[in-house]
Amino acid sequence: MRITVLSGGVGGARFTRGLLALLRDRLPDGAGGTTAQVTVVANTGDDMWLHGVRVCPDLDTLMYTLGGAVHEGQGWGRQDETSRVSGDLAAYGLGWEWFTLGDLDLATHLARTQLLQEGLTLSQVTARLAERWRPGVRLLPMSDQPVETHVELVDGRTVHFEEWWVRLRAGVPARRFVQVGLEAATAAPGVVEALTEADVVVLPPSNPVVSIGTILAVPGVRAALAGTAAPVVGVSPVIGGAPVRGMADACLTAIGVETTAAAVARHYGSRSTGGILDGWLVDDADGGSVPELALAGLAAAATDTLMTDVPTTARIAAAALSLVDRAS
Ligand code: GDP
Ligand code: CA
Repeated sequence: MRITVLSGGVGGARFTRGLLALLRDRLPDGAGGTTAQVTVVANTGDDMWLHGVRVCPDLDTLMYTLGGAVHEGQGWGRQDETSRVSGDLAAYGLGWEWFTLGDLDLATHLARTQLLQEGLTLSQVTARLAERWRPGVRLLPMSDQPVETHVELVDGRTVHFEEWWVRLRAGVPARRFVQVGLEAATAAPGVVEALTEADVVVLPPSNPVVSIGTILAVPGVRAALAGTAAPVVGVSPVIGGAPVRGMADACLTAIGVETTAAAVARHYGSRSTGGILDGWLVDDADGGSVPELALAGLAAAATDTLMTDVPTTARIAAAALSLVDRAS
């Protein structure tokens, strides 16, 4: 079984960790792994240069989470992290007080930057870094070309997505999101095939606008998803009218989508009506929307979708996959 996941950072990484636990349980290969092949296509729209190094927040969150090195409490960054380098940079007046660059994390960025400067593509660099972390999935960036999400604010400023998200905590409303570099970008090697040749495509509970939306905007990706023979099932990142963590509501509002599980599903659209979804899993809190989702052509169900720990998340992944039979 080939499963392809389109992922942002924390939401997508946690979901994928649960999915892998489920597959190891259900499709064991006898060596502690699984016979299923999981490919994760990661958003790289949050990437940026900081202090001369290339930071790829979503790729790193995936790598650390699936590699067992993530700071559990934060959901991103390394466990047992220190910030001596950041502190010393601040002494030169060169710190970015709003963006944490931990010492161990910095080693990842230095390694990535060195390999990029040696001429490797981001896909090749990602594969190389993953050799250390063994995430148990094939980890692909959405594109090898830099695509950066910038945010046009209502006050007229335009800032990098990370500055809006981390520094401003999305406090200044966004007017629109612009993916700088998108026109010149192509999907990274293997991305389109991972969608067209999959048995199942899963949209985890990642940010529909700046994580999954950005991946879908890469030329060729949306068409591959619309055309694949594989069922496409998703898990709502919105529970009871609120994003569980973070400020995804500010992103949805900016693109005119209500912060509800059903509105996000309508935004993606049912494949029977030209959209990209066959199935949609909502939280029990939103169980009332299941009939309307079914009317919209989606295989829909409700369950507890709070990813509190790995076994719970594995059950959420099982519920998402169980939509496949009803969707195909
Ligand atoms: P980011 O790149 O780190 O922001 O992570 P993602 O884009 O992958 O996921 C962020 C989204 O995950 C948030 O907008 C939340 O709505 C959603 N999310 C986080 N935790 C949970 C959870 O436990 N359950 C569900 N259903 N959604 C979650
Ligand atoms: Ca992100």
